[in-house]
Amino acid sequence: MNMGYKINCINKSCQKESKAINIDDLVKNCKDSFGKLKCRICGNSGAYIFRESKLQEKNEKWKRYIKGIITIETEDEDYTPYVFLTSQVMGGEIDGIHFGYYKDLRKKGGKLKHGHGPGGSPVFSKDEIFQLLGKLIHLGVVSKQDFIDFIEKVKE
Ligand SMILES: [Zn+2]
Repeated sequence: MNMGYKINCINKSCQKESKAINIDDLVKNCKDSFGKLKCRICGNSGAYIFRESKLQEKNEKWKRYIKGIITIETEDEDYTPYVFLTSQVMGGEIDGIHFGYYKDLRKKGGKLKHGHGPGGSPVFSKDEIFQLLGKLIHLGVVSKQDFIDFIEKVKE
C-alpha cells in the first residue's frame, strides 16, 4: 500500500495541496537545500505533511506535522537513511526527529523499499551522526550554542 504524501503549502499566496508519490519523490523534489519541505506548486519553502498513526493505547493516535527531511549520504548509493523533522502542532517548532530509511533498487531491476527491517531502523556511523548534527544546525533546529552547552555538560 502506498499512500504517497499530501503536501500542504503554508505560503499565504498559495496554500495549495500537492503530492509526492513516494519517499524518493518526496526527498528529491519536495525539499529545499536545507531540508525544509517545499510546495510543488509555488516552489516556495514552507509546507507540511500531516500524519496520524494509531497507537497501542486504545483510541489514542500519534499526530504529527512533518516539516522537513534530512537525508544522510552513505557509501551505498541505493540506501538513503533520513530523518523526518516533525512538530506536534501545525505552526509549532520542530520537536521531533523521526528516523527512517529507504532503499531504491529500481534502476537495478529491484524495488523501492521503504520501512523497517531486515535489521530495523537505520544505523549511523560517527561521521553520519555529525553529518546529521551539522544539518540540524544549518536548519536551526539545534543552535551552535546548544551544541557548545552540550559539550560543556558532558565534559567531566
Ligand atoms: Zn505553494
